[in-house]
Amino acid sequence: MTELQIVTLPDEVLRKKGRPVTKFDDDLQTLIDDMIETMRVANGVGLAAPQIGRSLQLAVIETLPQVDENGEDIPDSRELFVIANPRIVWESRDVIDGIEGCLSIPGYVGEVERAYAVRVRAQDRRGKQIKLRLKGWTARIFQHEIDHLNGVLYIDKLTDRENFWTDEEYYNMRQAELEEEAEEGEEVAAEETAVSKPEKSS
Ligand SMILES: [Zn+2]
Repeated sequence: MTELQIVTLPDEVLRKKGRPVTKFDDDLQTLIDDMIETMRVANGVGLAAPQIGRSLQLAVIETLPQVDENGEDIPDSRELFVIANPRIVWESRDVIDGIEGCLSIPGYVGEVERAYAVRVRAQDRRGKQIKLRLKGWTARIFQHEIDHLNGVLYIDKLTDRENFWTDEEYYNMRQAELEEEAEEGEEVAAEETAVSKPEKSS
């Protein structure tokens, strides 16, 4: 497998609608394997063909690992999808804001509203028709990747122009929020102790 070069903004291939995949031949299988390799090396959860300079309706997606009750990753719990010519055929009215990044816009993240759940029709790597029901983070990744196939990037869909940060700005913001939450948690704990003391003494 070969690691492919990921193209970044402002490369215009990212803004083009991809051509449908029509031949599910050996060349396509090689391309898919190389895209999976490239996604994994880059620590991505999805990669669309335009991101490696190929204007095609093709994407690979690998879900985040599931976690056990201790918050540890469960081995081999990631799920790999290859989708060709995908279409979102249904989306939930429920929407959810979340933070997204993109391998083609390195160093930045932004907040985007997405449907909480979607149904997708596509073809798998051999051309077989598939139907998928997706929700939560997996549904978000699918929406992000399918947007790529239509020349749409997450920065087009920010909840607000201000909700776009460098990785460092976002990290610092999150740290500050977590510290604030921890302080509030301590205050609550102190109040509870104060309330529970008289009970204990009675
Ligand atoms: Zn992306």
